[in-house]
Amino acid sequence: MKLFRKIIIKLFKIVSLVLSIGLIAVFIYIIPMLWKRIYTYPKLEKARSDLQAKYKKPIQYIQKTDYKGVLHAHSYWSHDSRGVIEEILPAAKKANLDFIFLSDHAHSQLDSFPRSYHGIYDNVIIEAGTEKSGLMVTPMKDTVLNWNQPKDSLIKQVVNDGGLVLYVHTEEKHDWANPDYQAMEIYNIHTDFKDEEDDLLPFVVNSVINGYTYKHWGMREIFDKQTVILARWDSINKFRKVVGMAAVDAHNNQNIRARYTDDGMVEWVGPNAKQLSLVEPGWKEKLLMGEPDAGGWGFKFELDTYFHSFNFVNTHVFSDTFSNKNIKENLVKGHAFIAFESLADAKGFQYYATDIENNVNAIMGDSISTGSIKQIQVISPLPVHFKLIRNGEVIDTKDNVYEYKYDIKNKAGNYRMEAFLNYNNKLIPWIYTNPIYIHNNL
Ligand SMILES: [Zn+2]
Repeated sequence: MKLFRKIIIKLFKIVSLVLSIGLIAVFIYIIPMLWKRIYTYPKLEKARSDLQAKYKKPIQYIQKTDYKGVLHAHSYWSHDSRGVIEEILPAAKKANLDFIFLSDHAHSQLDSFPRSYHGIYDNVIIEAGTEKSGLMVTPMKDTVLNWNQPKDSLIKQVVNDGGLVLYVHTEEKHDWANPDYQAMEIYNIHTDFKDEEDDLLPFVVNSVINGYTYKHWGMREIFDKQTVILARWDSINKFRKVVGMAAVDAHNNQNIRARYTDDGMVEWVGPNAKQLSLVEPGWKEKLLMGEPDAGGWGFKFELDTYFHSFNFVNTHVFSDTFSNKNIKENLVKGHAFIAFESLADAKGFQYYATDIENNVNAIMGDSISTGSIKQIQVISPLPVHFKLIRNGEVIDTKDNVYEYKYDIKNKAGNYRMEAFLNYNNKLIPWIYTNPIYIHNNL
């Protein structure tokens, strides 16, 4: 009996030791995340409100309206998303979006439009599109796209019929020489996330610890300046115009969720919107599930909510009217810039060219001759660090200003601007504009 007791005590000691070591290891592992919660993220929040206090509404020089929105997002029509309008629309409203151009995965080789969501929902334009084999197409009309035909002829057909064709996932191989593509992603959240995918654990644990309060800063952890993609964009622009835009690639699918089905069962749904199980409600369901939310979910643990994707990076398009067609036309002209919105709202930012009398005669995306313009100018609602890039080379910088003017001195080239925000003495990319294309007098 004594021996038995001894063994039990010994076992108990070993188990306690293993548990303690385990707990200490976990604690050491989460120290950096806890530190972010108590120090790094509150400091970033403070920096953001300090920046916001410096807001100065810029004079409107560009005679068009800045509509901001997202391109490349998925809804329930995609096999890897369950997103419904009850979730998409509130997220869009909260992120102050004017438009969403969806890019749902096609259901078959014969890809029909309209489908899923399209139209104007509570002042948000939603346009249907397809993402397939490295491109996004938005036909902008009722049609059936036949993906059995060669890709080039499909692209030509969409463009000739007034639609939009974009290069997506620009980290991958593409036919960069095809002049029918109108725009390319110069930033895509999923592209940026790829270097984190091999080691997801820190990202997930950080989301658990900092989840609801600081999710936007948690998501910002993935950010890397896409230098290779930006360099490619500059190099393509040397021989033909291709517009730069941002992709959110939102799926709202890195989650664990549960919902009641119509016949009283519970469906558990995991990452990539895959069904984990379909079960009779048991103790687990009774414990975890509450009243269904607007999307029908009685339980959810979410990493990539629509709001946080929609608020991460936007494309601002200077347009004449609030319509899908006009926004598309102005996007194709390059009247657009991209902005990392969770750092600060970029509305008011403008980039344009002026003549000798200081009249605006071209805006980002436009082509103009050296003889017609004197300066390029940019104005920002917040003080920024400007970087002027000509044909892919940084040719000038200016720190901590709202406005910037540059005399082009008859020098042709593609001039684009980058604007950086100063967050705790670190310059963080905030805005990339499309270039103004300045050519020699003919
Ligand atoms: Zn996608």
